[in-house]
Amino acid sequence: MTITEPVPPGAPAAPPAKAPAPSKPVLDGRRPPVEAALVYAFTLIPMIALVAAVPLAWGWGLSWLDVGLAAGFYLVSALGVTVGFHRYFTHRAFKANRALRVGLAVAGSLALQGDVITWVADHRRHHAFADKDGDPHSPWLHGDGPAGLTRGMFHAHLGWLFERDRTNAARFTPDLLSDRDVARVARLFPLLTVASLTAPALIGGLVTMSWWGAVTALFWAGLVRVAVLHHVTWSINSICHMLGDRPFEARSKATNFWPLAVLSMGESWHNLHHADPTCARHGAVPGQIDPSARVIAAFEKLGWATEVRWPTTARMNRLREVAAQSG
Ligand SMILES: [Zn+2]
Ligand SMILES: [Zn+2]
Repeated sequence: MTITEPVPPGAPAAPPAKAPAPSKPVLDGRRPPVEAALVYAFTLIPMIALVAAVPLAWGWGLSWLDVGLAAGFYLVSALGVTVGFHRYFTHRAFKANRALRVGLAVAGSLALQGDVITWVADHRRHHAFADKDGDPHSPWLHGDGPAGLTRGMFHAHLGWLFERDRTNAARFTPDLLSDRDVARVARLFPLLTVASLTAPALIGGLVTMSWWGAVTALFWAGLVRVAVLHHVTWSINSICHMLGDRPFEARSKATNFWPLAVLSMGESWHNLHHADPTCARHGAVPGQIDPSARVIAAFEKLGWATEVRWPTTARMNRLREVAAQSG
């Protein structure tokens, strides 16, 4: 849910999460140089691996084990971000039991997109200021015309990651800071980063009983997998605020971009998400594929997730009315 914007008539109720603390400043100092250097390293090294992937696949071949490991680690880390970091921790689209909460925080950390508290703080700031001054990654604040929009697209996709200003977690995520389990997982982020890269290598090495099996698994299921997921996630911030349809009134430029629906686990139905941020299903119109919503439904069946905010007919009708009123 938006954090500071006034709620327009017809909008769904605010989430049950502890209220953010708007009296506190939006920013919290600057990142120290070492942390800034690590952001460069963990952004650029996987990307270099991705660029090298095609010629290397040609030369090395690509084993089914590498493909399976890459797909498996992609699924776990992507769902950790979409179901965990995004729909649960940021927007509280459902309630999770303790084991699920910790599991989702760990799984999302494996995506190498920052620790859970930093990720959520940045994303709540994005919704609070969506496409206006203060939004950490809007593509629309860098001038008009082709040059300004290109600059904006680059900034929204990955340029914003290199900015040194830190979002103030005390303002945006007091609920997570006071959750001891979540705070502990956030502190373990460096260790989880190492584990995300070495676990595929370990499995690849043990299954093939060779160092080479470890190296190719590290490459494909570690670096290339991280790079692909990075670009898919960043595309929600860049492409899904620029290209595509805007069927609902989203109080931002958020769009639906169907080609990314499967790879993004349903997150590319971003227009409805900005129109109704606490909704557990982003692809809420029939025919819109949303794997994250299916996973949440499975968690609900297992009894691990409760009070899921599904898109009821009344809720969807309200959104359609708001869209019709705003023309
Ligand atoms: Zn957005
Ligand atoms: Zn969101």
